[in-house]
Order: sequence, then structure tokens, then C-alpha cells
Amino acid sequence: MGWVSFEVRTTTRSHLVDITEQVAAVVARSGAGDGVCHVFVPHTTASVTINEGADPDVARDIEAQLGRMVPKDAGFRHAEGNSDSHVQTALVGPACAAPVRQGKLALGRWQAIFLCEWDGPRTRTVQVAVSPL
Ligand code: ZN
Repeated sequence: MGWVSFEVRTTTRSHLVDITEQVAAVVARSGAGDGVCHVFVPHTTASVTINEGADPDVARDIEAQLGRMVPKDAGFRHAEGNSDSHVQTALVGPACAAPVRQGKLALGRWQAIFLCEWDGPRTRTVQVAVSPL
């Protein structure tokens, strides 16, 4: 079925958005039995990661800590003024992968997939593909 895209509208400058349900829906429609689910975001100031989804405070803590680690005004050269967002994106990365077992996204018990917005609010694109094994 190739790559499937969906959009996510973010509402603040930094925000981790749980996209597990949207990704799981693409996996379910793919008809794959066992395979690998690839998730990619085609952006330079947004990223994707897998982390705890059970306690929403974990995502808030990740947002806040990356904000402290990469201050907005740190003498960056990039004239657009959002180098902190680019650095945060570089730290987290543009892609992740997860197992698909018996047609379902097989995350760990506490895991969720997050789009990480670092320069919102914006509308972001998430691309998902499932490779059968
Ligand atoms: Zn920029």
C-alpha cells in the first residue's frame, strides 16, 4: 500500500502529540501480518519518538527538559531565529520504527508514538509505511 500520510495540527510552540491511534489505524488498514511499521516526519523542526504514553506528565517533562537543554537564545547563527527548534529536532530524530505482529502495532505496554513539535503551532505531516516480514 506504500506510504500513507496524515496531518497533525499542533497548538503550541513545543508539544508532544500522541499519534499512536492514527498510526495503529494505518497499520490495521495495511493488511500486514507481521512486519515493521515505519513512521517518518518530513520536517526540520518536528520529530517523532516512542516513549511513555500512560502518564502524560512524561511527555510534558520531555518537552520541558529539551527546552531547558536547548535555550531559544543561545547565540545561534541561523537568521530564521528557530535554531533551538532545529537542535531539538536533531536530538530526537525524524523517524522511528515499531513491530507489527498479527496485523497490529505491537508497542510495549507503556509505549506511545509521539509527534514532537518544536516550532509550532503548525500543521505537520506524518508518513507511515508497513513493510511485511
Ligand atoms: Zn529554521
